[in-house]
Amino acid sequence: MSKASEYLESVQKLIEQRDPNQPEFLEAVTNFFTTIKPVLEKHPEYVESNLLGRLTEPERAFQFRVPWVDDQGQVQVNRAFRVQFNSAIGPYKGGLRFHPTVNLSIIKFLGFEQIFKNSLTGLPIGGGKGGSDFNPKGKSDGEVMRFTQSFMTELQKHIGPDLDVPAGDIGVGGREIGYLYGQYKRLNGSQNGILTGKGLSYGGSLARTEATGFGLLYYVDAMLKDHGQTLNNKKVKVSGAGNVAIYAVQKAAELGATVLTVSDSNGFVYDENGIDYKVVQQIKEVERGRIKDYADRVKTATYHEGSVWDFDVDYDLALPCATQNEIDAKQAKLVVKDGAQLVAAGANMPSTPEAVKVFRDANLLYGPAKAANAGGVAVSALEMSQNSARLSWTFEDVDQRLQKIMQNIYQESADAAKEYGVEGDYLAGANIAGFLKVADAMMAQGI
Ligand code: GLU
Repeated sequence: MSKASEYLESVQKLIEQRDPNQPEFLEAVTNFFTTIKPVLEKHPEYVESNLLGRLTEPERAFQFRVPWVDDQGQVQVNRAFRVQFNSAIGPYKGGLRFHPTVNLSIIKFLGFEQIFKNSLTGLPIGGGKGGSDFNPKGKSDGEVMRFTQSFMTELQKHIGPDLDVPAGDIGVGGREIGYLYGQYKRLNGSQNGILTGKGLSYGGSLARTEATGFGLLYYVDAMLKDHGQTLNNKKVKVSGAGNVAIYAVQKAAELGATVLTVSDSNGFVYDENGIDYKVVQQIKEVERGRIKDYADRVKTATYHEGSVWDFDVDYDLALPCATQNEIDAKQAKLVVKDGAQLVAAGANMPSTPEAVKVFRDANLLYGPAKAANAGGVAVSALEMSQNSARLSWTFEDVDQRLQKIMQNIYQESADAAKEYGVEGDYLAGANIAGFLKVADAMMAQGI
């Protein structure tokens, strides 16, 4: 066994021993380690300085209590986390997730991925992530506000515009960011560089809301063009109906594709004429309803219970935009059977390791999340720039920068894969390109 392989195995074993109850974190690390060996072979100094041992342990991680009063006057307590994973290339940057499944393993997996995603954007931001097991579903506005204010009362002690800049993720959208910012400001005064994804009236950036979904399509467009194709007339399966999915549907349609599906945790809608993003936006963002309602409003659409990935229909591109591990190996085989030629991740780690293997074995074009969905955090970094400069750029300006960033991410991943002997492997390419910059910064800054 080579020195690099031995080293990777020893770090992996240590992580398994240290945190045996963190399956999602271990999955993210394993996915990363399976692609990084060629870099260690070229850079023995990374092995000598135990770079991966350092990289896989967060610089800081904390857990805190969030007490709040519900509409019945009962005192509720939730658990919250912030993981400040790596600041080698800039302040910690990454979203907050409010979802009942949130635990330390999930926040660590997301924070670990965020390090390389942020590095790939080419902007100076380190990796972090946070969240709580609070479930916003079915809560009143007042409950969400009281929970969010209590959450920020603790979090504000640990963040800062040049230290750690949170944003949204699943369950944290414009409304939650507004309440979080209000509470931060109440306690510390106005500092709008403290959060991103803010409303336009108080320091937000144009195109931030659309950025992850639009960015996903810009990345897919770059990948297809490199293979002599375009999005025109492509049939697309999208999962999810949140912030990523809605704007992915919009941009896919603008680029000439037909989106056949969107989904939520109960079921999905199918329309061979194409999903209308405006209807999804109205149901999910304005009414906070369920995707089932879509079929009541658009007569050509049908609603089906269950996973959209079990639904058998021919299509060209798969864009999972819901959540982690939403596609298992069996469903991945169906994706291949249904004729899809490309899978690009709008959600973070949407495919299980076995599903990724199915895609890779079938030679599908596979765009990993850290590359494909980096548009959101990239525009967050542009929001930070605008806040520092006290400027607001136009929608077109931000959108053009986003397009360039996504094209660069595709190109750098493709180039890194080629340079390290795995041409066409965009998963390995993204891991390698994202890692190289962080590794260089960590080496330069000493132990
Ligand atoms: N939550 C998003 C992500 O997974 C965006 C993070 C941000 O804007 O900081 O990258």
